[in-house]
Amino acid sequence: AIEVRGLHKHYGRHEVLKGIDFHVAAGQVVCVIGPSGSGKSTLLRCVNRLEEPSAGEILIEGVDICDRKVDLDEVRSRIGMVFQQFNLFPHLSVLKNLTLAQRSVRGRGKDEAVRIARQNLAKVGLSEKESAYPAHLSGGQQQRVAIARALSMNPDMMLFDEPTSALDPELVGDVLGVMKDLAQEGMTMMVVTHEMGFAREVGDKLVFMDGGVVVEEGLPVDVLSNPQHERTQSFLSKVL
Ligand code: ATP
Ligand code: MG
Repeated sequence: AIEVRGLHKHYGRHEVLKGIDFHVAAGQVVCVIGPSGSGKSTLLRCVNRLEEPSAGEILIEGVDICDRKVDLDEVRSRIGMVFQQFNLFPHLSVLKNLTLAQRSVRGRGKDEAVRIARQNLAKVGLSEKESAYPAHLSGGQQQRVAIARALSMNPDMMLFDEPTSALDPELVGDVLGVMKDLAQEGMTMMVVTHEMGFAREVGDKLVFMDGGVVVEEGLPVDVLSNPQHERTQSFLSKVL
């Protein structure tokens, strides 16, 4: 579970997150929407401490990861992150992409790392691509490899930052399908997305952010069909 309390983040004088509170229960899928610059990526990056929060608490399974004593590598290894740009290592084969961090961070031996990598490649439907290099895969395949790589670390939860935004439209469905499977297996997920169909169908909760605050949150169907705030209405009228 993820618990965020009073989270602030500023860059110099620019306050990007202005007191964010929210909760993701174990096994829940929480989708986050909002206009460009509203702080969605910053929020996600704070949750796995790619960014240092300026104030507030972030509890992961009850442990405050803003505490100086926390081992950040350990925290990050329990939280898988998938970005808009797939961030695969271009000079490594798919299999090597999946085994590298397992070996260096998790300390797994080669055989075990390969076995786990193959399980996760099968899960995203790319077993036959283990020897390929990223440049020879479609964007959708690269993103599924990135998901399989994150899963190979056996994370407790997964954060997705617009995972399908860089993809050609016909490739989006495959990636969303993999994410839906994960959700159905009970993975705890935070998903920044513009895919309202996914949010409605798979999300347990939908959070609308604007200007560094959570303006509104609720069941996706409620927020999407009956938004309570004028800012939510105005945003949805532009994207739906
Ligand atoms: P988008 O939908 O375009 O991805 P977002 O909601 O993810 O937007 P963020 O990337 O979190 O928005 O950015 C929020 C604000 O913080 C923006 O005004 C951005 O310019 C600013 N910002 C983000 N990262 C930094 C940084 N490293 N230094 C200074 N300002 C930053
Ligand atoms: Mg962003």
